[in-house]
Amino acid sequence: MTEEACWLCERPLGRRVQQHHPVPKSKKGRETVPVHPICHKTVYKVFTNAELARFGDDRARLIENEELAKFLRWIADKPPDFNAPVRRSR
Ligand SMILES: [Zn+2]
Repeated sequence: MTEEACWLCERPLGRRVQQHHPVPKSKKGRETVPVHPICHKTVYKVFTNAELARFGDDRARLIENEELAKFLRWIADKPPDFNAPVRRSR
């Protein structure tokens, strides 16, 4: 994985890149990783801040989540700058 890939979906990054805190800022997370805007939105849609504080930096554990795994399969063949509204499910 190069620096040009998204931390979450591992596709190449597009023109719009957002910085994601794997551990939320409110939980003293300092590290940031580059992600697609749609991947950023999806992380916060699928997981609560409390969940991200517990295991948000553990990508292997995040992608075990069925809803996130579904998203990753769906996004896999989309172009880097693909974006779409993300509906909140809770
Ligand atoms: Zn991504």
